[in-house]
Order: sequence, then structure tokens, then C-alpha cells
Amino acid sequence: MRGIHARTMLLSRVYRHFFCFRMHHHRVSQLFQPLTVIPKDATLKKEETTSLSQKLMVNCGILSSRSNGMYAFLPLGQRALTKLTKVIDEEMASVNAQRLSLPLLTPGQLWKITGRWESTGQELLKVKDRHEKDYVLSPTHEEAIVNFIADIYPFSHRHLPLRLYQITSKIRDEMKPRFGLLRCKEFLMKDLYTFDVSEEAAVSTYMEICKAYDRVFQRIGVPFIKVEGDCGNIGGSFSHEYHYPAAIGEDTLLLCQKCGTATNAELLSDSSHTCSGCGEHLTKTMGIEVGHTFCLGTKYSKPLNCCYQNEKGKPSLMQMGCYGLGVSRILAAAVEVLSQGEQIRWPWILAPYKVCIISPKKGSKEAKAVSWVDHLAQVISNIPSLQDDVIIDDRETLTIGKRVLEAKKTGYPIIIVVGKKACELVPLFEVIDMIKESTENLTQRQVLEYLREYVKHCST
Ligand SMILES: [Zn+2]
Repeated sequence: MRGIHARTMLLSRVYRHFFCFRMHHHRVSQLFQPLTVIPKDATLKKEETTSLSQKLMVNCGILSSRSNGMYAFLPLGQRALTKLTKVIDEEMASVNAQRLSLPLLTPGQLWKITGRWESTGQELLKVKDRHEKDYVLSPTHEEAIVNFIADIYPFSHRHLPLRLYQITSKIRDEMKPRFGLLRCKEFLMKDLYTFDVSEEAAVSTYMEICKAYDRVFQRIGVPFIKVEGDCGNIGGSFSHEYHYPAAIGEDTLLLCQKCGTATNAELLSDSSHTCSGCGEHLTKTMGIEVGHTFCLGTKYSKPLNCCYQNEKGKPSLMQMGCYGLGVSRILAAAVEVLSQGEQIRWPWILAPYKVCIISPKKGSKEAKAVSWVDHLAQVISNIPSLQDDVIIDDRETLTIGKRVLEAKKTGYPIIIVVGKKACELVPLFEVIDMIKESTENLTQRQVLEYLREYVKHCST
């Protein structure tokens, strides 16, 4: 008797769990996605120069412009950001980098010691507290982290190499914010700082981190160019930049088609348009800078006296590197490069939801097919890498056509329509593939095969 009771309990628990899980699908009717409807006769107030990505992301309720050069990430945008952050965290873990968070405010005194209080210019946003103490709203954290590590002395050579990074908001007082997230006042950046015992070890760290950055960009899947960079205000001995080639980009890149050398034009004098390696004529491309790596040497450890204790017990200066990724900028730049016309295109790995299922319209002939919708969402969610990536457009007072149009604009890579053909003897579902730009009518089994194949090729 007890046995039977226990089994009934177990069954009902399993059933309840299954039932709750079924109910948990994401639904467009519940989504906070305020769409911007621009009246046809509207005269637009032009506060800042716009870009395609900004226009699309604001109109589709992914971003909201809250003030000149400042943006709110709405739930869909936040999901894309979280996915990008996950890719970065995974690649950082693979090179033993550890994540932390430093305060947004850095004492101005530290920036005065390195000379950047003056040299950064008006882009550096300075503030005073009630005690008249100077601070900067940090655009980067070399001073802050070097000061922190210097405080830990004696720091044994046995703890090196050390790799620390953060993914936090940074502030820059842009004179003319433009192109949405591509050039704004507050942005999300990933900044990594490395500490090594010698120049040789620092260079080997540099190579290893650059490979991890290559992997981040390869996984995002948008074509990128890596060039020799300008050390600029960060300084150091050498640097590399990662760019997405785009007409709207603000950097001029010079590429050699013969030997593959690529350089930021800032590094070359106006006259040199031939490759220093092979003499070939260089071709010009505009690029959006999305990452920058620097081999710093002792540029910051020296003025801030950041040392480790060497084998003889003596203090020795840290050899450093710093590595930035424009996280919010990568998102916008990827959308900028991939999108066309009125529709957003996300890299597969960053799409806020990968599959959108559109239910039949209430009161229509195909309305009885509605029972397929949750079932499809359930079986698709059972594919491991699509677990939390299905959304149902259940706004059944709207026509299927209108909802397909919105789903295309929002950029869901796969749209599945449960319509007329789902009522046939062998139910068929319309699969609109926005990446391959194709439409097919498939059975449930074929839909699952299609998606499994997709995941195999696209998920890395
Ligand atoms: Zn060349």
C-alpha cells in the first residue's frame, strides 16, 4: 500500500513538474518591447547622427534612447548582451582570467600620478565630492587596478601570471555622441589587465590573450579584421585592434591583399600607401573598432610602484598588458554589419531568441491548430542548446502576416508558423529561415531535424 502511494506521489510530482515547465514558455504578449511608430508626416528632431543599427534597435524596442548618447537596454537587448557576456566569460576562463568589479569612480590623484588627468582631455569626466576631492568617472581602469595590486605587496612571484578582468559600464564625455551605441557617453566594456614577471612572459601572455580574443570574434561569426594599432593615450610598446569593416566606421584601415598585413592608417604617414613587407599597393577599408589589445610594459606599474617580490625577495616591477572589448559596441556593430533595410539580423549566437513560433489567429479557419503551438515549443526546447531560446507570438487577435513581419523586423533567425497547413492530415509547419533566406513546409519531425542540424553548425 505504502509502495503504491509513494509511486502515485512520485508520478504526480513528475506530472506537476512537467506541467509547470510547459507553462513557462516565453510569450510575446508578456514581453516589454515598446515599438516606435513614426507617423508618416512626422518631422524628425535631429539631436544626433543616427546609424542603421541605432534606428532598427530603437524602433524594435531593443534599445531606448534616454538622453543624448545614453541608452537603456530593454529585455531583448539585455538578453543579447547576456549571451555576448557568456561567450566572453567562457573564453576568459579558458586562459585563466578571473572576473572582478572595480568601482566606477577612481580617485583623481591616481590619474594625476600617471599624467592622464591632463593628457586625456575633455573626454575624461571629472567630478568632486562634498569634501572637494577629485574623482574620474572611469573610462578605463589601468590606474585603479595597478594601485590595487600595488597595495598587496609583498606579492610573491609565485602568484604570477595574474589575469583580472571586468565587464562594467564606462563613461566618456563625448563631444558629439553619434550612431547610437557605436559612440555614446556610457557604454559596456570588458577590460582585462595582465601582470607578469618579465617582458618575455608578458609577450607570451599577450599572444595567448590575442588568441582568446580571436576565438571570441570567431564565435560571434561576423567577419573581422585584426590590424596593428595605435597605442594612443593608453600607451605601451605595441598594440592590435579588432575591427568590423563597415562604411560607417571611423577608422581607416590599410590592407595588403598579397601578404595579408593590415594597419590602422593613423600609424602610417600620408604618403605611404604601399605595403612595407612586400611593396604591394594597400587597399583602404573603413572599420568599427570593437577590440584593442596593448602590451604595456611598465608604463603604469612604474609611476604607481606596482611590484612583485622576486625569487631573491627583492621588489621588481610588474610587466603588464591591457585588453579591451567594446561589449555594447560589438552588439551594435554586428547588427550594423548584418542588417538590411527594415530588418535586424543578429549573429546566431547572440539572437535574443533563436526561434519564434507564431500561433494561428483567433476565430480563423486554422484556429484549431493552436494546440500544436505549446507542443512544438516544448519539443524544440528539448534540444539542449535551444532550451531557453524559444518565444511564442501568442497575440492571437493579430493576423499571422502582421506577426511574421514583426518577427522578421526583430530578427529572430527562425520563425515557425502554425497556420492552415497544420490542420492537414499530416500537419505541416512553415519554417522561415532568416539566415538562409528560405521558407519550407515541414512535418514536426523534419522541423526538429532541421533545428538540430542548425544547432550543430551554428553553435560553438
Ligand atoms: Zn604586403
